[in-house]
Amino acid sequence: MDFQLTKDQNLVRETAGKIAQKELAPRAAEVDRTHSFVQEGLNKLKDADILGLAIPPEYGGMGMDTRAFVLVIEEIAKACGSTALATVSHSICSYIVLCAGDDKQKKKYLPGMAKGERLGAFCVHESNCGSNALALETRAVAEGNEYIVNGSKIFITNAQEAEIYAVLVRTDLSKGPQGISMLLIEKDTEGLSFGKKEEKMGLRGTSSRELFFQDCRIPQANLLGKEGEGLKAVGQAIIGFGFLGAAAISSGLAQAALDTSIKHARERVIARSPIGANQLIQSLITEMSLGVDTVRALLYSAAARRDTNPPGPIVDALKVKLYASEVAIDVTNKALQVHGGHGYSRDFPLERYYRDARGLTLHFKTTELLKADIGKMLVGL
Ligand SMILES: Cc1cc2nc3c(=O)[nH]c(=O)nc-3n(C[C@H](O)[C@H](O)[C@H](O)COP(=O)(O)OP(=O)(O)OC[C@H]3O[C@@H](n4cnc5c(N)ncnc54)[C@H](O)[C@@H]3O)c2cc1C
Repeated sequence: MDFQLTKDQNLVRETAGKIAQKELAPRAAEVDRTHSFVQEGLNKLKDADILGLAIPPEYGGMGMDTRAFVLVIEEIAKACGSTALATVSHSICSYIVLCAGDDKQKKKYLPGMAKGERLGAFCVHESNCGSNALALETRAVAEGNEYIVNGSKIFITNAQEAEIYAVLVRTDLSKGPQGISMLLIEKDTEGLSFGKKEEKMGLRGTSSRELFFQDCRIPQANLLGKEGEGLKAVGQAIIGFGFLGAAAISSGLAQAALDTSIKHARERVIARSPIGANQLIQSLITEMSLGVDTVRALLYSAAARRDTNPPGPIVDALKVKLYASEVAIDVTNKALQVHGGHGYSRDFPLERYYRDARGLTLHFKTTELLKADIGKMLVGL
């Protein structure tokens, strides 16, 4: 399934696809096995200006739209889910600065991020708040022209590798959601330290670490937006680049699993007949293909709606993230089945696709929380 793309969208997708297949795919199994960060892959994307894809040219980026972003993330994910996740997390952080930053902050931070010289991370999750970001506890207390930050974050993608952290903090204990603000915190800040790398089931080429803030002195000039507007600052970026970006990772992984399965169904011959000649294998391929097509249709239409009438309906982005992540698990699971015992072996990429896809239903908002939010929006109560 394909959609009408502009010349620029086609070009950037083609460029990302070539880099992904030539540079990322050959390294994907190794970074997964050795649990090492996908820095080399990110360097290749950086050289092609892809890490600043959606940042306007005046800040050093390519100024492309959400549609181009999801196309590129799909191409990267087909080759390496981990590189796609690291790119999405970096993009969320830079987009937070773009949406919520003032002119000075944008000029200071965006050019380095758009060029990929300074990697970004976004930090919401804490061990005590879990899925409920409104319960976060990391505290920022104003003192003179600084905030003193104490607390911790957990499971942060790109942690320690990133130079710039967009961190949600509580600036006012009495105000609930209006007491939450967003600070930009640089890696070399005194009092900021990192925990051990999580031993994850999948997406193992990304680093997921704890962050500890102990009396970190952050200039008030690093407050993004106004005090109490942290959720607003993170909202737009998470919707456009987080949810749609995560959906694009799921879509790319599902497409890769489908392509590999069709190839295997044609080439794997048992008792002188290709397994793809069996109707039950054909049925699996049909179901996988339908899943991939419907995800892409939803994803591209949500991205297009966001581009033509920004920021687009929030419910679209939530639905795509939910649907794409669940379909990707189903498709990669069926792909394993098509491969039989070979799919269970690390000699084939299927088990990695499956493990990577599994993480996407847990990332940002989980499936349960998405269902609750979507239902609430639709019912309107
Ligand atoms: C690969 C990966 C990358 C990540 N990267 C980042 C990152 O860069 N930055 C960041 O801030 N965070 C990141 N996270 C953290 C992620 O946002 C959290 O894991 C997620 O929000 C779930 O929180 P939890 O793990 O504490 O689950 P819990 O909150 O403990 O939830 C456990 C289970 O209970 C369910 N549940 C919770 N509340 C309800 C409810 N009200 N109704 C029904 N069911 C409910 C959940 O759906 C889940 O199934 C990442 C996670 C993963 C897996």
